[in-house]
Amino acid sequence: MPRPFSLYLHLPFCHKICPYCSFYKHTPGKTDFTAFINALLAEARHHAPKIADRPLRTIYLGGGTPSLLSEKHLTHLFEGLREVFSFSQVEEIDLEANPSTFHLAKAQLFHELGITRVSLGVQSFQKRELTALGRDHSSKEAAESFHLLREAGIPSCNLDLMFSVPLQTEETWADNLAQALALKPDHLSCYNLTYEEDTAYFEQFQKGELTEDGNLNARLFTLAHDTLTAAGFRHYETSNYATPGHHSKHNQAYWEGDDYLGLGPSAVSTFDGDRSFKLRWKNTPDTDKYIHQISTVGHAMQDSEELNEEQFNLERIALLLRTDTGLPLSYLPSGTRFEQLLENKLANLTENRLILTRSGSLLVDAIAESLI
Ligand code: SF4
Repeated sequence: MPRPFSLYLHLPFCHKICPYCSFYKHTPGKTDFTAFINALLAEARHHAPKIADRPLRTIYLGGGTPSLLSEKHLTHLFEGLREVFSFSQVEEIDLEANPSTFHLAKAQLFHELGITRVSLGVQSFQKRELTALGRDHSSKEAAESFHLLREAGIPSCNLDLMFSVPLQTEETWADNLAQALALKPDHLSCYNLTYEEDTAYFEQFQKGELTEDGNLNARLFTLAHDTLTAAGFRHYETSNYATPGHHSKHNQAYWEGDDYLGLGPSAVSTFDGDRSFKLRWKNTPDTDKYIHQISTVGHAMQDSEELNEEQFNLERIALLLRTDTGLPLSYLPSGTRFEQLLENKLANLTENRLILTRSGSLLVDAIAESLI
């Protein structure tokens, strides 16, 4: 039985650049969108023969702000993708969207194109926090956009929220969670703001203008966990909460180590290698170069590395420890000591899988590091 794979498309366009964002993105500027979509499709055709016999299971349009694409360009993209890949076994198609980047007709088009899951980047419902985050939408617009997705019949709707945002308190975070729940989403992602290199926030952090408070992070994480699990959400990954049947299949595939093909500038792919266990490559993180390279050599690979099985398994440790199904002990290098985690009630051992407790989840990165 051929193993399934996933497809990721990186659409790096945003109306406004948020000061905390470390993804490859830029304002549309003079980008020729038709040329860009044609480059994505040409790149898809270039890689397709390698995976011709394998079923495509999930597709994720991320960025950037994929919902910025016009209806004409979205239609062109999906028509092209359906010519290259069979969609007959696709179980989920995700799209990242920002409030106020679509109206009802576009939301209906998402549905017609087969998009099953939309993640709406709300981040906060507080005006002061939205301003601090450099967001160009209001909480009212976020709620209106969410209602449009529902009206259009999108089967699974996620809200992205952020905690430990400048000016945030436990009260405003509790209010954000309450306002999110009032919209009745199927899924909530709650990300802890981190200061990533090459962002405006990182510079401010280095100058001491922004600070990090580990205790506050822990309290806000716990507040989200307690509020959302009490509301019936399953806390299935450190940052993710789902109502029954609405977990992200695409992300699950990624955490579990399924192969994925990434298209677009800066996109990463990981596939079976010829000589190695896995081959990973990253595309050039530059839209103009990307379009040019696709038109001249057919692909946009910039860096590549070969991973042996042990290296690949080590990566799985950090990702699977974040999930509520946990880490199979078989992924740990032989002789790894984990008993102390059990003694300190940071993890439980169930059917040979190490599953972090709520207290352990607060320390997930440190625990992963100690095991690696
Ligand atoms: S956070 Fe989202 S909207 Fe903001 S710059 Fe990054 S990709 Fe664009």
